Amino acid sequence: MIATAFDVEAIRKEFPILHQQVNGKPLVYFDNAATSQKPKSVIDALSAYYNHDNSNIHRGIHTLAERATASFELTREKVRDFINAGEAEEIIFTKGTTEGINLVASSFGRKFIKEGDEIIISALEHHSNIVPWQLLCEEKGCVLKVIPINKKGEIIFEEYLTLLSEKTKLVSVNHVSNSLGTINPVEEIIAAAHQAGAKVLIDGAQAAPHLDIDVQQLNCDFYVLSAHKVYGPTGTGVLFGKREVLEMMPPYQGGGEMIKEVHFSGTTFNDIPYKFEAGTPNIGEVIAFKEALEFVDRVGKENIAAYEDELLKYATDLLQDVEGFIPVGTADKKASVISFLIDGIHPFDLGQLLDAKGIAVRTGHHCTQPLMDFYEIEGTVRASFSIYNTKQEIKYFVESLKSIIKMLK
Ligand code: PMP
Repeated sequence: MIATAFDVEAIRKEFPILHQQVNGKPLVYFDNAATSQKPKSVIDALSAYYNHDNSNIHRGIHTLAERATASFELTREKVRDFINAGEAEEIIFTKGTTEGINLVASSFGRKFIKEGDEIIISALEHHSNIVPWQLLCEEKGCVLKVIPINKKGEIIFEEYLTLLSEKTKLVSVNHVSNSLGTINPVEEIIAAAHQAGAKVLIDGAQAAPHLDIDVQQLNCDFYVLSAHKVYGPTGTGVLFGKREVLEMMPPYQGGGEMIKEVHFSGTTFNDIPYKFEAGTPNIGEVIAFKEALEFVDRVGKENIAAYEDELLKYATDLLQDVEGFIPVGTADKKASVISFLIDGIHPFDLGQLLDAKGIAVRTGHHCTQPLMDFYEIEGTVRASFSIYNTKQEIKYFVESLKSIIKMLK
């Protein structure tokens, strides 16, 4: 059994934030899809950087600058390994998933997408994988097509195939839906897009904490993720791009670091990845992100996936007993996210009353308003589980839900 592969209590000890009372009750943190908590090794690395090594990278020859640069580049290599990219130069540091998508829209989109071309997304997307494409379509006169989903919250693959044509320049879909937890068949989506001659971006914000990612096996052209959802710091993320695609793309932002030489007569640009990393990056956070990925290695991606799946099944079973429980999103393949409604009770009220019991869940549209439109609802309550959550917490959550419902009815 998975439970024997690691000790949840030992893992919990690595997360200082979990050991506190909220509203007089032990904190139960079920808002992991929004951001995960950070192990002490990440917090310590951030503090060590500012205590000992703080310095600007790549430009200095003094010892601190060399130390900071070396640590920063070690994270790049660690990320390469984490997603199994072929080369560290294919890893670009960004502010997060949102910036990664905007970078591709601005750079690849502006250069390679023309009037009448088509971009395909799905009905499951986060706003950050919708709005950049809407902006590009407005600017360029290209067309945004949306893969429909069924009521379970799964992409209808045959419909996707009918949308693909020689007009399709880019397909941009998430690996895992943040609102419903649906795991999308990205390998098949990518293969079909390539057959049509389109490039593919995978939004891996929700996959990175749960699934083993191999960008070479997936064969995607771009893969984006946020450090803060994988036990790492905020304000830091990754854009993976295939070397040959990144090299064809113009810079995203102009400034220091991304240039080779600047003269008023003209400027030449740096090689990848630096061409896309203008300005001073989030140095300490990038350095600390390495610790987060090492934490994942220590626990083991397979153990994480198996344990979270166990939590998901346990919670799904217990919730069937809750009066008025309406699940939203019941895909066959799901990550550890449960979106739901309770008949006759506003999600916001539930969220507040759960908070009073120390339970942190998310309520609202989860930055997926078009998906909420599909279900003809304004929002849901979302409980999302991580490696440090326990069955006891889930039991307490379900009992709390029952007592709130009793009180309100
Ligand atoms: N895509 C998905 C699927 C997400 O879950 C999120 C974060 N909720 C984002 C994109 C945006 O990530 P960030 O805010 O870290 O840029």
